Amino acid sequence: MLSRFKPTWMIGDIYSISPQFLLDHNINCVLTDLDNTLVPWNSKNGSRALHDWLAENKKFGIKVIVVSNNSHKRIQKAVQDYELPFVPRAMKPLTIGIRQALKQFHLKKRNTVMIGDQLMTDVVAANSCGVRSILVKPLVRDDAWNTTINRYFEKIVWNKLSKKYPDLHWK
Ligand SMILES: [Mg+2]
Repeated sequence: MLSRFKPTWMIGDIYSISPQFLLDHNINCVLTDLDNTLVPWNSKNGSRALHDWLAENKKFGIKVIVVSNNSHKRIQKAVQDYELPFVPRAMKPLTIGIRQALKQFHLKKRNTVMIGDQLMTDVVAANSCGVRSILVKPLVRDDAWNTTINRYFEKIVWNKLSKKYPDLHWK
């Protein structure tokens, strides 16, 4: 039961995840959450760090696709400068969005990773799909109101997880 919430890896932020790390684990496609993973939830625009990270992945042939619970409009606004493909209304923790991305972009589960800042949505959806996952810390500390509720439960789950899996720690 608790294993549903267990991320494969935990890495401080998405920009610290190098193409080499991904390739070393046979990953050639990244599905990423949008808010507080790729960009701050309250920001419309990306950053230099995001620009560089995307360029670096492109150089190594790693595909990046946004899989977000947010609306088409919000995602479009956030990624328009980067020509990123995306799946809106992914309904994480359900597997709908991830499955759609796998199908639409002809991806293999074993070569794909889901990156996100929430155990309750991103990690659970990835685990339910049999896709590996990377938990990152949220880019900004405060959250949208609906995320605040998830964070409350996340804290409880995290306490149990860290007891059961003492090897689980931030890289
Ligand atoms: Mg998020």
